[in-house]
Amino acid sequence: MSVDEVVKNIKRRPTRAVYVADLVIGGGAPVSVQSMCATKTQDIPATLGQINLLQEHGADIIRVAVDSRRDVECLSVIRKQTGARLAVDLQESYRLAEDVAPFVQKIRYNPGHLHHHEKSVPVFDKVKFIVECAKAHRCALRIGVNFGSIDPSQMGVAEDPMDAALASAREHVGYMEKLGFENFIVSLKSSDPNDVIDINKRFSDEFPAVPLHLGVTEAGMLPVGEVKSRVAFENLLAVGVGDTLRVSLTLPFEQKGEEVKIGRRIISDVAAGIFRSVPRFEQRGLNLISCPSCSRVENEKFVELAQQVCEMSRFAAEEDITIAVMGCRVNGPGETDDADIGLWCAASHVNLKRKSELVGAFSYEEIVGRVRLELEQLLQDRDKSRVITA
Ligand code: SF4
Repeated sequence: MSVDEVVKNIKRRPTRAVYVADLVIGGGAPVSVQSMCATKTQDIPATLGQINLLQEHGADIIRVAVDSRRDVECLSVIRKQTGARLAVDLQESYRLAEDVAPFVQKIRYNPGHLHHHEKSVPVFDKVKFIVECAKAHRCALRIGVNFGSIDPSQMGVAEDPMDAALASAREHVGYMEKLGFENFIVSLKSSDPNDVIDINKRFSDEFPAVPLHLGVTEAGMLPVGEVKSRVAFENLLAVGVGDTLRVSLTLPFEQKGEEVKIGRRIISDVAAGIFRSVPRFEQRGLNLISCPSCSRVENEKFVELAQQVCEMSRFAAEEDITIAVMGCRVNGPGETDDADIGLWCAASHVNLKRKSELVGAFSYEEIVGRVRLELEQLLQDRDKSRVITA
């Protein structure tokens, strides 16, 4: 039996079919694999090269970051030169949906980001605007809920982030129903694979018809990034949950095809009944989380920086510490809040945080040494408190 035949054999919970051009997500279609360009969108040849690379590795949908008028112009040029199914994620600017919809087949919005701009406009009206753009250009939508940027109004109501994330997804599924729009999928992502398993099962039980896009955010570097993604995806796909997925890894842009290869390998392993991982992800020792990078990365040294932090922190490998390294200001400040030590990149410096508190801004040359000092200090403080409590 061929891999494709094996993959078709995965038993899936029946979900509604969602159309991304000629690709069907859900509705019994094979689990599709997505990825994202890590190149600058305004570097058109590099982005086209990245799209080709991801397509050659089997990506079904490729996301491109678009944040400005100039990005939209470049997207329109890219559109003319590739037949790939393209997706864009709206960050704070929901109005961008109108500009990008003619050039893409899918738009993702994050409910947590709809509160930042035009605060006087009700969120429902913003969603209505996005839906109207999607309808006008036959785009699919993804409601992308992320534990690192949960809708602040939900965080005020639910005590537990998982309940808040679920409530946010529930609210936006309700908006879709109210607007009579069915061509949408939902993602519920966290950097913790166990949260990804739990929340996707809960959502699937509550909304069995809605197709799910699976993802572990900031899974980081290989090999741990693959392990985190594998644990989450294997455990969900094996019980029929999940219709499309993305593996997010911190890799140089020329190696981004690995994300797609690994995603495909996980799907075919599940279909063949080969389980390499365990029911739960057990974090032992230092947890390094880092974003997969994209066009928004503010300094090309980001991937190298993540690798250097990984190398430098090996001396503390046994310690229960989380270090987060993020590529830009869009998700960096929020997604480093829960880490013991957080770094997020700006163009000429790196911001260093201790939990949600900013320690300072450091040059790319000095930051790794500064993180080491921070790590040593953290270990010393812990040792002291261990002695005091002993
Ligand atoms: S943190 Fe910024 S650079 Fe990294 S993937 Fe997210 S948007 Fe892109």
